[in-house]
Order: sequence, then structure tokens, then C-alpha cells
Amino acid sequence: MKKIGVLAMQGAVDEHLKKLKAVGAAGRKIRSEDELDQIDGIIIPGGESTAIGKLLEAFGLMEPLHKKIDAGMPVWGTCAGMILLAKHICDQKKTYLNAMDILVRRNAYGGQLDSFTAMQRVKHVSANEIPMVFIRAPYIDKADKGVEILAETRGHIIAAKQKNMLATSFHPELTADNSFHKYFVELC
Ligand code: GLN
Repeated sequence: MKKIGVLAMQGAVDEHLKKLKAVGAAGRKIRSEDELDQIDGIIIPGGESTAIGKLLEAFGLMEPLHKKIDAGMPVWGTCAGMILLAKHICDQKKTYLNAMDILVRRNAYGGQLDSFTAMQRVKHVSANEIPMVFIRAPYIDKADKGVEILAETRGHIIAAKQKNMLATSFHPELTADNSFHKYFVELC
């Protein structure tokens, strides 16, 4: 059984753990460097990227996690997790894991009240349309050549893959659909 970590600093941690169980993987909360060594892949959940970023530093996990990703460990960032993976963030100098060659725009669709849902097909993930929940979501403004675009909505990139890294603007863990978690576990 694949062991998949969920970075447990802040945000939608339990929701991802439930999904992992539903697709037959063993979910593990990750809060230390030791725990990072015991998993086949890691999910960085949605929440608040500034808060998760500060906690990653405080827990001494920023560098070790960066190294793991660099060494090829599969990682999937959802929403705030996508922001944490990005090498570039619009209107902001500070970046976090500096791993993925994307420029992301935070709160790109507006504030909490502008949250919305959509139905969309995602390349590699599902042949059918799957539900997507966007909550103060970012989108990818620009992606370098090495980044494969998996889905766009409202004219912007909302799912992408680069080598071992996967990023989504939306929250598959908050819907009834399991296809994204299934896909990620297969990558691990
Ligand atoms: N707006 C949040 C941020 O900038 C992300 C929101 C989310 O993860 N749902 O970190």
C-alpha cells in the first residue's frame, strides 16, 4: 500500500486523508523531517499560503521538503499548495518551495464571496467532467515550456504538471469525486 503524506501545518488536511483512504492509500500527517522520509509522495493542502509558509520555516521543513521534491518525490499542491510550489508569485517577492516553473496569481478570482464551482475534464485524470471547487483560488498566469497544462477554466490554467510535481487551483478533496487522488497515488 502506498504511503502518502499530507503536509499538516494548516488547511484542508483531514479532507485529503479521507480521500486517500477512499482510494486505497495510507495517508500520513507530516510535521517533521523524519516523517518526510517514510512516504512515497506528499500533498500540500489548501489553506493560507502565508501561514503554511511561516509554519514550514518554524517546523524546519522548508529546506528538507524542497530537497525531497528536487530529488523527485511526487508532490501535489492544491490551491495554497500550488502557491507554495511556485517559483514566481504575482505582485509578491516572497516565494516558498521555489520548485515549479509557474507564475501564480493569488486570490485571482476575488475574495471568499467569489468562490465558485465548475465542471471540467482534466487531461490524464478523468475522461469525464469532474467537479471543481475554487475558494479564494489562485490560477497560473504563466507556465514555462516544461510544464504540461492539464486544464483551463475561464481562460486560465488551473491544473498543471511538471515532472514529479502536480498543481491544482481547486480542491478535489472537497467533492465526491476521487479521480484526482487516484491519479496522484498512481504517480507515487
Ligand atoms: N488564497 C489563499 C492563499 O493565497 C489560498 C486559498 C485556498 O487554499 N483555498 O494562500
